[in-house]
Amino acid sequence: MSDNKGCSRRNFFKIAGALGAGPILFPANQAAEAQPEPGSPTPVRIPVRAFGRTGVKVSCLGLGGIFDITTNQLLLKQALRWGVTYWDTAESYVGGKSERGIGQFLKKYPQTRKEIFLVSKSTRYDPEGLSQYLAQSLQRTNTNYIDLYFLHGINSPSLLGKEARAWAERAKSQGKIKFIGFSAHSNMEDMLLAASKLGWIDGAMIRYDFRLMRSEKMRRAVDACSKAGIGLTAMKTQGKGSVAVDSEAELELASRFVKRGFTDAQARLKAVWEDPNIASICSQMANMTILMSNVAAALDRTKLTSEDRKLMDAFALETSGGYCAGCTSICEPAIGQAAPVGDIMRFLMYYNSYGEVEHARNCFAAIPIEVREKLETIDYSGAERLCPQKIKIAELVMRAVKTLG
Ligand code: SF4
Repeated sequence: MSDNKGCSRRNFFKIAGALGAGPILFPANQAAEAQPEPGSPTPVRIPVRAFGRTGVKVSCLGLGGIFDITTNQLLLKQALRWGVTYWDTAESYVGGKSERGIGQFLKKYPQTRKEIFLVSKSTRYDPEGLSQYLAQSLQRTNTNYIDLYFLHGINSPSLLGKEARAWAERAKSQGKIKFIGFSAHSNMEDMLLAASKLGWIDGAMIRYDFRLMRSEKMRRAVDACSKAGIGLTAMKTQGKGSVAVDSEAELELASRFVKRGFTDAQARLKAVWEDPNIASICSQMANMTILMSNVAAALDRTKLTSEDRKLMDAFALETSGGYCAGCTSICEPAIGQAAPVGDIMRFLMYYNSYGEVEHARNCFAAIPIEVREKLETIDYSGAERLCPQKIKIAELVMRAVKTLG
């Protein structure tokens, strides 16, 4: 299964079938077995990739943790069993139920800790806030260290200053974190280009998908990080929009991929994995069906063809009006920074495209009340004129106020 000819549709579904047919439960003392017993069948393990200059190899598929993990322990067991050892959480996810769920699992299966590459994040960026949130994450996740700690959702390189660096060095020397980095939902290209020059950032998680990877600036930014030894994790790789846009190209894509033996969603993962600069894809996998489908895609070696890429490009162009590219340095200054346009577009994406209703509403509710109250009174026409995606910003902000407010 190493090339296009090598992985037939039959073989691909054989992978998925094998994943589904295996026993889901396994004894606690074998929870993270890395090697098969002599003579036993080879366990299914997804590929690993080097994470920048850290010297660590991470699973190419990461378990995104925006769901109630306290009631989903079986999923963690199965993820480990298939080699999905990169686990992503944050202090802000699901009111703490994401981190607590991981802590619950590690309390029961402490021997699995060394197998897991645990990522958590802070939405406070000052030294005091970082220390406070890190202490809370360690306590909730029932561990002594976080492998990779992110300043979460930052959109300005100014937040990666001397204070943050000194804090990171201290936390590393105390053994509380191994690596430091940031996550970015907007202005990702500028963040990556700035980080590549800093010399102390170990990793970054950015929105990255078949749409964004077409941009020359994004390719340059990813390449700069790769050269600087920064490990990169891609998130939101399905390239979903704030709203659905009817597209004939989508139907064509889906039919083509089904004939080739994989789904449209799996093709979008493949597009990102085919970029060797990306170490891991962080994917929300809140149920066994999505986990199995993504693991099957990670195991399948079928490459996308140039025709596949062409169709994906056509689809990206046809549906660009529903997709916010996160370039908030363009639209937000045009309205005097009166509203977090990029964030609102993202919350609509959670709501409309991912079905994450509660998460979308919680995020929207975190916008300061004085900003929310003025959202309907702002003139967005200047921002709309500048938006490269031609998004109907005013219309969508009104929609967000109605559905998420
Ligand atoms: S609304 Fe348009 S300009 Fe603003 S971040 Fe989204 S794509 Fe960029």
